[in-house]
Amino acid sequence: MSKTPSEHDLAAELERFVKEQAARFGDVISYVPAKAPVSEAPAAAAGPQPSIAIGLLEEKLQVHRNEPWYTAKTLEELESKINQCQKCRLGETRTKFVFGVGNPNAKVMVIGEAPGADEDKQGEPFVGRAGQLLNKMLAAVEFKREEVYIANILKSRPPNNRDPKPDEVEACEPYLWKQISIVKPKIILCLGRIAGTNLLKMNESLGRMRGQVFDFCGISVIVTYHPAALLRNPDWKHGAWEDLKKMRRMYEEL
Ligand code: SF4
Repeated sequence: MSKTPSEHDLAAELERFVKEQAARFGDVISYVPAKAPVSEAPAAAAGPQPSIAIGLLEEKLQVHRNEPWYTAKTLEELESKINQCQKCRLGETRTKFVFGVGNPNAKVMVIGEAPGADEDKQGEPFVGRAGQLLNKMLAAVEFKREEVYIANILKSRPPNNRDPKPDEVEACEPYLWKQISIVKPKIILCLGRIAGTNLLKMNESLGRMRGQVFDFCGISVIVTYHPAALLRNPDWKHGAWEDLKKMRRMYEEL
């Protein structure tokens, strides 16, 4: 499949950056410290204590202690207990349940909004053109797709890729919290405004969220553009680039 000019631009830029890293990663990035976090919680760039993250997440999950998946100890066990979920209307229209993929011990977790058409067919998050671009974005800052863990706020596709409805998020987000509590990432990268606002429970524009480090139960969170948005708007790629470099620097500082 031939690439659009915007894909060419971004792919070339990412490829150039990967080559530049042959010298030394730290020499080619210009990390700019985050502005003051919007939340009162510390930015925790040096990495939270795992026990803090686990403790705060466990508090959120306590409400669901009577659900069969609550006691799951592994991602496999969790998936097996929720993959027939029909808690919201999206369970009726999905083709495949899209749980998540990647390293169960990842330090970096990538969170998107919801499965799209390709993901709904294949049962894996971030496949198709946006997924390929995400892989390139990760590779450009020296992460393999298999090295991180990738999931979405919703596990079932909203029809016609409409935005998730509040009751759908409310029904589905405990599964994501449980995934986070099992993986125990140190950094979360939210892709797009919907992922950022729903995870962080903020009503902010993407523009206001980008460039800052937030806190989710002791885990550092940064928010950047969704790869699908970058495919549509090549002018945003430089901003995404800065966000990725920041994530890499945070990772190096763990
Ligand atoms: S979106 Fe989430 S809550 Fe709704 S049916 Fe799918 S898995 Fe269940």
